[in-house]
Amino acid sequence: MSVEKAAELLSSARRGVALTGAGASAESGIPTFRGEGGLWTSYDPVKVSSIDSFMADPVSYWQVSKDRGRVALAAKPNQGHMALAALEGAGHLVAIVTQNTDGLHQASGARRVIELHGSGRNVRCLECGTIESRQDVQDRLNVEMPPRCRACGGALLKPTVVLFGEPMPVDAVMAAYDLARQADVMLVVGTSLVVYPAAEIPLVAVRAGAPLIVINAKPTPFDRFAEVVIHGRSGEILPEILSLISA
Ligand SMILES: [Zn+2]
Repeated sequence: MSVEKAAELLSSARRGVALTGAGASAESGIPTFRGEGGLWTSYDPVKVSSIDSFMADPVSYWQVSKDRGRVALAAKPNQGHMALAALEGAGHLVAIVTQNTDGLHQASGARRVIELHGSGRNVRCLECGTIESRQDVQDRLNVEMPPRCRACGGALLKPTVVLFGEPMPVDAVMAAYDLARQADVMLVVGTSLVVYPAAEIPLVAVRAGAPLIVINAKPTPFDRFAEVVIHGRSGEILPEILSLISA
């Protein structure tokens, strides 16, 4: 059984690394981008999520972001997030590398979270650099569009997420590669692994000799490199794996 095999690999791991994507948060009510009913089936991503369109028209960006922000800020960690935090707490995972910007790993108690695409929990003024919490900005979007910087009055407040056309945070990417190189198990959760460089991280671990476990709703291009592939919901499968390890 693949769940048993995954539990066996993780139970002996001491430097395990998880890589998570949108699927890990789907059961928290945050829509995935590419899947069925995904965000990018209703919006053109380059139009709503590129730095060029943001700079040209921050109002349009914030009108879409207002709805997304309301959902993301209200979301709670699911059983999959909780199980990953427990695996870290038990010493089987050393870090969670994530493509998500929702902050739900931190909210579940995970200690070391590497955010490859930044965080949606904060907003930065592109004119003066002041950082505010997204919740504070969210609270005034009904009366202020676009939101203005409390410090300088500027109108270019941007969530600290990586938009299309922006570089990934170098520190996070370097840390993720280092962790992957040293990993003794690589656990991929809820990502279709099509976005580079995130997609390369599991391969780095595999080349360094780590067994790969893939938990995702659908097949991924890297299933063939994996020791264990489980298709299903991470919010159900991860707690099963955890219970086998804890038993
Ligand atoms: Zn400012």
